[in-house]
Amino acid sequence: FIMSTGSHVYFQFVQQWPPTTCRLSSKPRYKHRPLQNFTIHGLWPSNYSNPTKPSNCNGSQFKILPPQLISKLKISWPDVESGNDTRFWEGEWNKHGTCSEQTLNQLQYFERSYSMWKSYNITEILKNASIIPSATQTWKYSDIVSAIKTATKRTPLLRCKWDKNTQLLHEVVFCYGYNAIKQIDCNRTAGCKNNVGISFQ
Ligand code: 5GP
Ligand code: 5GP
Repeated sequence: FIMSTGSHVYFQFVQQWPPTTCRLSSKPRYKHRPLQNFTIHGLWPSNYSNPTKPSNCNGSQFKILPPQLISKLKISWPDVESGNDTRFWEGEWNKHGTCSEQTLNQLQYFERSYSMWKSYNITEILKNASIIPSATQTWKYSDIVSAIKTATKRTPLLRCKWDKNTQLLHEVVFCYGYNAIKQIDCNRTAGCKNNVGISFQ
């Protein structure tokens, strides 16, 4: 059957490691904010057969968020590439949030993302497992997944970017069910290969 616009089966909650985003960014360097903690990239409604869909649905227009929520998102969901936080949130809403309105209205979409970010501190989880950003060390995919899984009890997905011959950890994905409440195991699709670096710049 054909999926109608905006239908999703589960959510990917995507956090990024800002040093990797910045290192491979094409935006002007002086605008980069390579923060040393995982921050939100987005909450993406997804399905298993066509992973980049749904996107850009015909949904509600982005509205200004309440000031208290803005303060929380400035910490958890900064635009680390170019420093325009509101534009980043609006872009994520337009591309992904508009496709999740069967589950979450705009306020819920951003509130829920913040509470997902708040519930586990990936930076701390990795530090406690002695996985610390390094210019030279690499880890096995399973080393990083195990450390996170010990804390969350659910399998995350790791996504990487290549910088020449080095594979750098870029995103840690948590998966949630249709209602964006219950965390579930992620499938390992298009994830990092083995030997994952985590650079601090
Ligand atoms: P990036 O390489 O920046 O993580 O991903 C590029 C873009 O592809 C993302 O911003 C996102 O819009 C889209 N994308 C990649 N994987 C998925 C997915 O599993 N689900 C959805 N909805 N979009 C995805
Ligand atoms: P995907 O299209 O859903 O959300 O988002 C992909 C875009 O998000 C990519 O073009 C990627 O460069 C961008 N992206 C990732 N991190 C940031 C960020 O911190 N700020 C901005 N403006 N874009 C970002």
